[in-house]
This record gives sequence, structure tokens and C-alpha cells, in this order.
Amino acid sequence: MLLEVRDLHVEFHTRDGVAKAVNGVSYGVDEGETLAVLGESGSGKSVTAQAIMGILDMPPGRITGGEVVFQGRDLLTLKEEQRRKVRGAEMAMIFQDALSSLNPVISVGDQLGEMFVVHQGMSKKDARTKAVELMDRVRIPAARERVRQYPHQFSGGMRQRIMIAMALALEPALIIADEPTTALDVTVQAQVMELLAELQREYRMGLILITHDLGVVADVADRIAVMYAGRIVESAPVHDIYKAPAHPYTRGLLDSIPRLDQKGGELYAIKGLPPNLMNIPPGCAFHPRCPMAQDICRTDEPPLYEVTESDADRGSACHFWRECLHG
Ligand code: SF4
Ligand code: MG
Repeated sequence: MLLEVRDLHVEFHTRDGVAKAVNGVSYGVDEGETLAVLGESGSGKSVTAQAIMGILDMPPGRITGGEVVFQGRDLLTLKEEQRRKVRGAEMAMIFQDALSSLNPVISVGDQLGEMFVVHQGMSKKDARTKAVELMDRVRIPAARERVRQYPHQFSGGMRQRIMIAMALALEPALIIADEPTTALDVTVQAQVMELLAELQREYRMGLILITHDLGVVADVADRIAVMYAGRIVESAPVHDIYKAPAHPYTRGLLDSIPRLDQKGGELYAIKGLPPNLMNIPPGCAFHPRCPMAQDICRTDEPPLYEVTESDADRGSACHFWRECLHG
């Protein structure tokens, strides 16, 4: 495994109390594999990613348990200086909002080039050449001219391509993309996602794709991990999930994807709101919203059951995963 997160716990200490943002998350990504991490906002998917990257705001965010084993070593035991070397060179992150991640007063060429100057001691001139190459790689037209331009001179989609180029610059083994296309128009979304998937295959990187939208990952992910209230509630190969979800929450997410054949009808939405992380419901955290909930769900927290009816490595944190699978 390229990356293995084991039993990760993250808390946020605030004046109002302790928010339990991540409560025992385990997942892994292999070299050349794409894992989609799915969930509503507040499910802990971004916080888990920030813990992996070592960019969790601290305080108030605090990792209270677990391991992040990357290329054989637990990153949580490294000193900040060593972490910084891993970041960028061996793992990189792409954020939703390129405009706030890029420096508005530095040309994109200089920002891309800086990766090589800082990490590889390259001359400014060579770094500029590299920047143009990278912009070509992410298919920004007229890269040679546009390398001098500033972030605001690019469209949203083009800016996101620049973010991808930055992440790719040092050819990291792992990229984490947090809602990389959420801010874009639907057609541009598809193009950027396709580009990301293509580069991932070409560079054989591990890719963690964080999204709230099950629709955008169908074609690019190998596996999906669904998060709810800081836990993984379902984990399975993408095709198995689309064929039949083994958790009612996943079913709800699937049913809320707009479909082309569904004209005019009202889109299904999971009723209710995600739980307050300072006061997570007992038993199964999803029970107040679950259409399949029984008495046991209000008292007994479901472990991640192995879905034994599947040949693949598959898990569901639902007492009634069998009924869900066949329902
Ligand atoms: Fe619903 Fe119960 Fe399954 Fe939780 S354990 S998802 S409440 S059926
Ligand atoms: Mg987020």
C-alpha cells in the first residue's frame, strides 16, 4: 500500500465543546489507484485529508489517535521539517478554490517555476521552461505566452488546470484532490476530471478524490469510501456500489444523483441534516435520518461489517447491510 490511514481520530476543541470530526477512519490507496472519498460537508473527509497532508490547523484541530503510514513510515511521528519535505515532493493537494490558493500578484509561470527553484534548486530560466512544459501537459493553450499572465486572467477551469500542474510538478506518488471541480460548470467539471484521471494513469500516482458528488467519480474511481459523522460507513469497489449499495446512506446519495432519463421529476434528497459533531447520535449516527432504522440502531453502534456476499473487499457499517443490498 502506498498510503494507509489506520484508526485516525481528530478532534476540534472549541469554546462550545469538543467536535469529534474524525472517529476511527481507516482507508488505503495503492500506487496507481484512485480512491473516491464521499460524503456531505462535515463528514470528516477534508479533515482526514488535512491530517494526511499535515496541514491541519492546530490548534484547535488535534489528532488524538491513529497512524498515517505513507511509503512505509508513519507520518504522524515525523518532525514538521520532515513533513514539509514530504509535502509537495511526495504528496500534493489540489483544493476547490484555485483563486484563493494561487497568489494573485505573482504570474502563474513564476508560481509553477518556484516549485523547481525551491525543491530542486533549479535556475529561474530552467524553471520557466519547466512551467511552460507543465502548462502544456495540462493542456492550457498558448502556454508560452500565458505563462506570464496572472491567475485572474484565467477562467475557472484553466485555473484549476494550473492547480493540477502545481500538484504534478514534482511528480508526487500521491495526490489528494479536495472537491477539485465543485466550483466549475458541469461541462468544465467533466473536462478537468478527465484530465486528472488521465494524468493519474500516466504518472501511476495514487489519487484520493474527495467529493460530495457521487456522480462525478463514477468513471474515474477504483474504490469508494463513504463517510458519515467522521466514520467510514461503506467501502467498496466503485462498480459494486453502483450495482447495489450496502448502506442506506450510500443508497440515499445514489438516489440523489440527477439522471438524464428522469425529466422534471423531483430529485430525491436524504431527509434531515448531518449530525452536530459535538453531539453525535448514539448507536448508528445515521439513525435519525435512516429510512431503515430499527430499535437496535438507536443503541448499538454498527462496526464495519464485512460484506460477505461480495467477492471484493467490501465493508458496510450497517446492521442491516444484507437487507439494504437486496432492497
Ligand atoms: Fe440505518 Fe440502522 Fe443501518 Fe444505521 S444501522 S444505516 S440506522 S439500518
Ligand atoms: Mg470539505
